[in-house]
Amino acid sequence: AKKEGPGKIKVFRQHMLDKLQESRTLERDMAMAIENKEFVVYYQPIVDSFSREIYSYEALIRWIHPRKGLLSPDSFIPVAEKTGMINEMGKSVLEMACQEAASWAVPIKISVNVSPLQLSCKAFAGTVLSILKDAGLPAERLELEVTESSLFTENSTPLNTLNKLREWGVKISIDDFGTGYSSLSRLSKLAFDKIKIDKSFVNSVSTQEDALNIIRLITGMAKSLNMKAVAEGVETEDQLESLQALGCDLAQGYLFGKPQPCVEDKIRYGLIHSH
Ligand code: C2E
Ligand code: CA
Ligand code: CA
Ligand code: CA
Repeated sequence: AKKEGPGKIKVFRQHMLDKLQESRTLERDMAMAIENKEFVVYYQPIVDSFSREIYSYEALIRWIHPRKGLLSPDSFIPVAEKTGMINEMGKSVLEMACQEAASWAVPIKISVNVSPLQLSCKAFAGTVLSILKDAGLPAERLELEVTESSLFTENSTPLNTLNKLREWGVKISIDDFGTGYSSLSRLSKLAFDKIKIDKSFVNSVSTQEDALNIIRLITGMAKSLNMKAVAEGVETEDQLESLQALGCDLAQGYLFGKPQPCVEDKIRYGLIHSH
């Protein structure tokens, strides 16, 4: 039987108080972070699975915290979503990423993550349009990554917003596919451009039959709906080989490059390396 003495409860309570304190401190710090330009964007390549040529870059936020150093998004995005600060933060990422992409000598795409909260704002589509205009980036070069949970709502704004953006030429990817509550009927209401296969499946594609079958299902579905399939979290040649065999078009992962504060010179300056 489970015995929890008063000592244990005390420790637990202290732990909860510490967590609460930590989250309050984070909220307070976050309010200043945008003004102080502490948020930066890292870029990770998404490549053609066969030629390994760079197809696009995904923008991934980082927080250079004055005391804690480099923070990864999983440690602060949930707090930003809870407080609503994600709206301002997300706008700032979009601005930085679009300006960055507009400066490249090679017209490859930029993918930006969008939180469900941003998508449910009626003003979001207009915000994206004005950011593109200010940056001088054609809509066709922007790709927004949205999660299934954004669409799993009675609210019609997210779907309307995405349809509007798509009409203007912005591409839409569905992120972390397979991990949420996908509603196929909702998926069919919006023609996405890409499906990103969650790295939890990719991780075991070359060792587990189940994962392989799920990826086969997703790539097959993508093909028949005229979308591209992107595998995330590709770390080994074995995984890449399995993905190629399944006909997965695009791949992203440490095998090709980790997120970095700047993109490759050949993209930035249009340098083509000759061997
Ligand atoms: P995500 O959109 O699924 O992004 C992919 C995550 O997988 C990134 O983590 C990336 O660094 C990591 N990754 C890429 N390749 C590999 C690999 O080969 N192996 C492993 N183990 N991991 C790999 P990161 O940068 O820590 O971002 C975590 C999540 O935070 C993202 O997951 C996304 O949901 C969220 N996020 C990041 N930037 C933003 C943003 O600007 N706005 C919003 N709303 N969310 C963001
Ligand atoms: Ca993503
Ligand atoms: Ca993802
Ligand atoms: Ca993910």
